[in-house]
Amino acid sequence: MAYKTVNPFNNEEVKSFTSLTEQEVAAKIDQADAAYKKWRQTDFATRRAVMKKAASILRAKKAEFARLVTLEMGKLIAEAEGEVDLTADIFDYYADNAETFLAPEILKPKDGGTAFVEHDSVGIILCVEPWNFPYYQLVRVAATNLMAGNVVVVKHASIVPQCAEAFEKLLLEAGAPEGAYINLFVDSKHVGKIIEDRRIRGVAVTGSEKAGASVAGKAGECLKKSTMELGGSDAFIVLEDADLDKACQWGLWGRMNNTGQCCVAAKRFIVVESVADEFLKRLTACFSKLSMGDPMDRATTLGPLSSEAAAQEIAELTATAIKHGAKAVIGGKRPERPGAFMEATILTNITKDNPVFYREFFGPVAMFFRVPDEKAAIELANDSEFGLGGSVFSKDIERAKRVASQIDTGMVFINRPTWTAPDLPFGGVKHSGYGRELAKEGIMEFVNRKLVYIE
Ligand code: NAP
Repeated sequence: MAYKTVNPFNNEEVKSFTSLTEQEVAAKIDQADAAYKKWRQTDFATRRAVMKKAASILRAKKAEFARLVTLEMGKLIAEAEGEVDLTADIFDYYADNAETFLAPEILKPKDGGTAFVEHDSVGIILCVEPWNFPYYQLVRVAATNLMAGNVVVVKHASIVPQCAEAFEKLLLEAGAPEGAYINLFVDSKHVGKIIEDRRIRGVAVTGSEKAGASVAGKAGECLKKSTMELGGSDAFIVLEDADLDKACQWGLWGRMNNTGQCCVAAKRFIVVESVADEFLKRLTACFSKLSMGDPMDRATTLGPLSSEAAAQEIAELTATAIKHGAKAVIGGKRPERPGAFMEATILTNITKDNPVFYREFFGPVAMFFRVPDEKAAIELANDSEFGLGGSVFSKDIERAKRVASQIDTGMVFINRPTWTAPDLPFGGVKHSGYGRELAKEGIMEFVNRKLVYIE
């Protein structure tokens, strides 16, 4: 796909960009390689200063950075500002903690001698990133790798080119040397060729299963480490002893944050029968109060999806669900207005033979299931190809912890939907991918844990 800014609020094209030629990509990798040779020698204080400066520029220019997000992918302006804050916090977090995370680990070999494991940089990391959090996705790979002494080349999603450029410029302005962070406007079909370059030492992907499988296959063929942060269909389990007010408020946010376009959005509501009617009634009431409109307008609570194609895709998936017996208790179709909009929707009566049962709804459409009890809730939660996040609502925390430990995902949150923070590891299992981003686990993905033994 060509790199273009198209405002999803009205589907008007704002700006287009030229993709790099093969020679230009090769020159960028040369530049990254030259930068790596110097950057790897820098001390933590030098790297820390760049991260701190990037955080402070982001905070100072929050409105400018946020506006680009809303323009390019339609995120509500307040949420876009929240994303800029979170991105700054992640820069700060690695500035403050990377040196501790990467400190050598002293070993005590049983048969004598002394030993330690040091954490060396490895080289250039290729990152393939999605549009749904256009800065947060980038900082997850940039702050960790730059603090570890690696450099990054990034293929961002084709619908957020101005965000991609803004982030590259941010790091240069913060003092990163030319080449330490490189934005590549390349077509996804050329990513394989980049992976083949022997100077690329690792590949990090956040995106769909399809993109992940393609890139992971190529990385495997080239024997390069990869991490995969892919799709999800998180269960939102409400047990009979849950605080229903709290569960509904979080249910609304968990499904509708970012217009439902979060990998860890609450996509499958699984509610114990005795409270199912009441919960559904309250959730439907919450959805019905959403106000569709311009995402730049602070009164809007339901913005457009990221693109016309995304809106069409979710509307078609919803129509398929209904055609095969699902019932839309609210919404169910696209509204009659311009822009990439979709109604806030709740689907019930989704049987296992419905073709949407195992699909990811990447937009404002909730799947609602009733189950007789806790055991059935766990079984249904685990009946998914995905294994990213999930949540359990119960006033009995010990009970919720027991349920959480039986959920086959990389993350489970109790009494709130899955979310992210600079100091919490993020990632999934099964088709949601492998490896972790953020926290100590994240920074350890692309370092050489080198053993040094002294006789
Ligand atoms: P996508 O189509 O896979 O795009 C993600 C990135 O991959 C884009 O830069 C895209 O480039 C690129 N890409 C697509 N196909 C590729 C291929 N065959 N080879 C190399 N690169 C390729 O995903 P999306 O629709 O933008 O994002 C939504 C998906 O990401 C959802 O499934 C969501 O759950 C998942 N996600 C996961 C996480 C997580 O941390 N686990 C976080 C956010 C999103 P183009 O834009 O040029 O096509």
